[in-house]
Amino acid sequence: MKVDLHCHSTISDGLLPPAELVRRAAANGVELLCLTDHDELSGLADAARAAQQTGVRLLSGVEISVTWRDTTIHIVGVGIDPGDAQLAAGLAHVRSGRQARAVRMAQALDAIGIHGAFEGAARYARNPALIGRTHFARFLVERGVSADVRSVFERYLAYGKPGYVPHQWASLEQAVQWIVAAGGVAVIAHPGRYRLSTRERRRFFEDFQDLGGRGIEVMSGAHNANQCREYARVARHYGFAASCASDFHGPGESETDLGGIQPLPEDLRPVWKDLV
Ligand code: AMP
Ligand code: MN
Ligand code: MN
Ligand code: MN
Repeated sequence: MKVDLHCHSTISDGLLPPAELVRRAAANGVELLCLTDHDELSGLADAARAAQQTGVRLLSGVEISVTWRDTTIHIVGVGIDPGDAQLAAGLAHVRSGRQARAVRMAQALDAIGIHGAFEGAARYARNPALIGRTHFARFLVERGVSADVRSVFERYLAYGKPGYVPHQWASLEQAVQWIVAAGGVAVIAHPGRYRLSTRERRRFFEDFQDLGGRGIEVMSGAHNANQCREYARVARHYGFAASCASDFHGPGESETDLGGIQPLPEDLRPVWKDLV
């Protein structure tokens, strides 16, 4: 079965509206899809309608921004109830800091001679509550300061770069608890992406598991082949369920298309096994 449990629509920082995203997944042969917009559930209804029309099986999801010991980590919730009130309230709180953060990012960019970034980024944020770094990156590419989104991040928006401002997201405990209480499985998104030492990484996996986290993205659009093997080993070691996740944001921007990830190693337990 072709599975993709991580992607973004215009409800957060993706380029396609939810229904178009689902149609693209269907065209790519995806049989089981999970829409995981950042800190937002409001794309799920449109996605569900399109899924019914195209015959794609859709799981409701979300990617929650978390601060764990000063590091930003993303936790995906797969198979959540989109009507869960506690999850909705928690996400509303997580979203609430984004506008002020965007203002501070624009100020930081202004200080290095890039003016008008707030308004510029806002034009790319279809959902103003979800304005984020990707929208700034698209504006900076438009301005010609870098050739593409990836190099903009490396030069301006990644941790420690001039346009980066620290931000406090949800706690790991909150994110996992909201997901589990909403009937979902909490999954570590793209574990290869984080700036953690081996020791911190181990500590993070233990904390996540102790708090009720059950899954990890093994096959990810953000991982190279070595990282896929490494996180397969981590899944075996901790007994985590494993996920397949393109983290698709849009055509021309994401290297890995919807459904474009390799299948899981056969011995791993798939995250979706108990959800479909
Ligand atoms: P934010 O939640 O506003 O901090 O934005 C995080 C988003 O920025 C991620 O979900 C990715 O879509 C994007 N992003 C982060 N780092 C990079 C990178 N190095 N290259 C491209 N996109 C990135
Ligand atoms: Mn994103
Ligand atoms: Mn992410
Ligand atoms: Mn993502």
